[in-house]
Amino acid sequence: RAKARLGESICFFETGMDERARERRQLANDLRQAGANGQLSVLYQPQHSLRTGAVSGYEALLRWMHPRRGLVSPDEFIPIAEETGEIIALGEWVLREACHEARSWPGEEKVAVNLSPVQFLQPNLVEMVRSVLVETGLPARRLELEITETAIIHDKLRALHCLRLIKAMGISVAIDDFGTGYSSLDTLQSFPFDKIKIDKSFLLKSEGSAQARAIIRAVLALGRSLDIPVLAEGIETEGQLRVLKAEGCDEGQGYYFGHPSAAPSLKVREAAP
Ligand code: C2E
Ligand code: MG
Ligand code: MG
Ligand code: MG
Repeated sequence: RAKARLGESICFFETGMDERARERRQLANDLRQAGANGQLSVLYQPQHSLRTGAVSGYEALLRWMHPRRGLVSPDEFIPIAEETGEIIALGEWVLREACHEARSWPGEEKVAVNLSPVQFLQPNLVEMVRSVLVETGLPARRLELEITETAIIHDKLRALHCLRLIKAMGISVAIDDFGTGYSSLDTLQSFPFDKIKIDKSFLLKSEGSAQARAIIRAVLALGRSLDIPVLAEGIETEGQLRVLKAEGCDEGQGYYFGHPSAAPSLKVREAAP
C-alpha cells in the first residue's frame, strides 16, 4: 500500500518535471521571437532621495507580454534567457532602449539598467556599453549599471578590471540585491561600487521581523563606513519609509513611491501646462 502510494507519487513527480521542462523549452523558443513580435517593453521605476524626496533616477525593468500566457515575470524568463544565452541580445536591447528613453527626459535623472552575470562575462561588454552610449548620445554620467555579486565571484580579477573600465567612462555601478546570495564584506571593500541596493526581501519583512531590521541597520552602517550610499528596495509603506529615514538611508525605491511605469518623460510632459 505504502509502496504503491510511493510509486504513484514518484510517477506524478516525474510527469510534473517533464511538464515543466517542456514549458521552459517552449518559453525559451517563444522568447527568441518575442522582440521581433513586439512583445517586449521596458518600464521605469523611480528612485528617490530620502533626504529631499526628489527623483534621482529610474530603474529600467524588462516586461514580456506573452501572446497566450499574458505577462511573464522576469524572475521566470530572465533565468531561461541566461541559460540559452538569449540574455546577451535581450540585455543589449534593454540597455539601448533605456539610454534612448532617458535622453528624452526633461531632467538629468540617471537610468539604472540591470546587467546579467552572463552579460558581464562577455569579452566585449565594455565595448558594447560604449557603443550604445555613442549611438544614443546619453552622457555616461546618467547611466548606472546594476550587477549582483554572482557576476563577480567567478573571476574577481577580471571583474575588477571590467568595473574599472566602466567607471573610467563615467558610468556608475550599483550592487543589486545586497544581503542575499554571495554578499560578502570583502567584495564591497575591494570593488568600486557607487551604490548598495538592499534587497527588497528585508524591507518586505522589516515590519514583522527584528532580524530583517537588524540586517538593514547593519547594511546602512556598512555603507556609511565605506562611504557608499545605500538605496532600500521594496518600500511599500509610510512606516517603512519613516524607519529608513530615521536610520539614515540615502535613497529608496518601491511601490510607496511608484510602480514601474512606461515612459516617465511622458508623465512629466502631461503634467506641464
Ligand atoms: P531587481 O533588479 O532587484 O528589481 C526590483 C524588482 O522589485 C522589480 O521586479 C520591481 O518591480 C520590484 N519591486 C519594486 N518595488 C517593489 C515593492 O515595493 N514591492 C515589491 N514586492 N516589489 C517591488 P521585476 O520587474 O519583476 O524584476 C524582477 C527581477 O528581474 C529584477 O530584480 C532583475 O533581477 C530582473 N530583471 C528585470 N529586468 C531585467 C533586465 O532588463 N535585465 C536583467 N538582466 N534582469 C532584469
Ligand atoms: Mg535591479
Ligand atoms: Mg534588487
Ligand atoms: Mg532581483
